[in-house]
Amino acid sequence: MTDVAARATAGFTRQYGEPPAGRWAAPGRANLIGEHTDYNDGFVLPFALSLRTVAAAAPLPGETWTVWSELSGETVTFGATEVAEPGRVTGWAAYVAGVVWALRDAGHRVPGARLAIASDVPLGSGLSSSAALESAVLAALVELGRLDLPTERQPRLAQRAENGYVGAPTGIMDQSAAIRCRAGHALFLDCRDESVEHIPFDLDGAGLAVLVVDSHAPHRHADGEYAARRRSCETAAELLGVPALRDLTVDGLDAALSRLPDDETRRRVRHVVTEDQRVLDTVALLRAGKVREIGPLLTASHASMRDDFEITVPEIDTAVEAALAAGAHGARMTGGGFGGCVLALVDADRADAVARAVSTAYAARGFPAPGHVTVLPAGGATRLD
Ligand code: ADP
Ligand code: MG
Repeated sequence: MTDVAARATAGFTRQYGEPPAGRWAAPGRANLIGEHTDYNDGFVLPFALSLRTVAAAAPLPGETWTVWSELSGETVTFGATEVAEPGRVTGWAAYVAGVVWALRDAGHRVPGARLAIASDVPLGSGLSSSAALESAVLAALVELGRLDLPTERQPRLAQRAENGYVGAPTGIMDQSAAIRCRAGHALFLDCRDESVEHIPFDLDGAGLAVLVVDSHAPHRHADGEYAARRRSCETAAELLGVPALRDLTVDGLDAALSRLPDDETRRRVRHVVTEDQRVLDTVALLRAGKVREIGPLLTASHASMRDDFEITVPEIDTAVEAALAAGAHGARMTGGGFGGCVLALVDADRADAVARAVSTAYAARGFPAPGHVTVLPAGGATRLD
């Protein structure tokens, strides 16, 4: 397949009969560690993928927006009425209309535009194609309209598009990663104050790679289960008299757990508190240049998601076990759970062998074949030319 930027350009020219004024790209992301910590005001550590979404765009007079996506093959047009309030544009184009809505709601004069979207980020696999789409469109509109919206404020706005217009209750991680990541680094994000720090994550230099396995598992009851986990955490924080579970520490964990009424809530809290600590430990190791050494933390994170937070599924656990048995230094599910992707830290020259081992384990269990791709940490949203 041709390069994603070339496909966006070709799509634009074919749809609109003229070349775009520019092209803006935003990446998908994988969360290295820190799962279900975001809505507990805690820590996450995502990195951007070399898989990305490209928006080719040109300004249009007036208040009309037209968007075409290679993936749906359709063109959707909307105007000021449709972006006056959420819900009027539905389906995939809602992610684009949501960005226009959020910008206007924040007082920006959004230029009319034509857009053509192409993407290498798989949809609905937990690699955040939604934030990549929002962030590429946002970057295009900010620059076409010369809007006064510095990079550090863009994640919040893109998140508002998804929460407020699309109606998906996601945290700030995906958009922060798509917009603020730096090549060769992971993004240490404090979800309480949204401060970020770029942590060296030099896989290449260490002879390592991250293998991302797409489990292709159907998302079973993911929305309801996500809401239930969130509720458990909020209820527990209330019972313990803290603003959020982030305010508990591993040292004080046993004392806190003894004040909770049931085993399930105790396990939910234990996951969040130990996961925050694993993020901090991972950051400390990466700062010291000890990349391979983070492997056990990744694997411990997976065990915690499987046993305490109970958000994994058999396909996911199989991928993790097979990767570890084939020599991965660590492996864990990445993303909200109930399907999605697994990431495995592997020696670069073992990536193919580990991927094959996972495929073999899938075949033995009768699961549909998984997808896989080897990734290195890439940079955030950017103009391409
Ligand atoms: P994820 O973000 O993990 O990939 P989501 O369910 O949050 O999964 O977002 C996926 C949705 O985002 C798709 O169903 C589609 O509506 C929209 N989307 C993402 N990328 C594109 C694209 N390139 N073209 C059209 N729609 C897209
Ligand atoms: Mg998403």
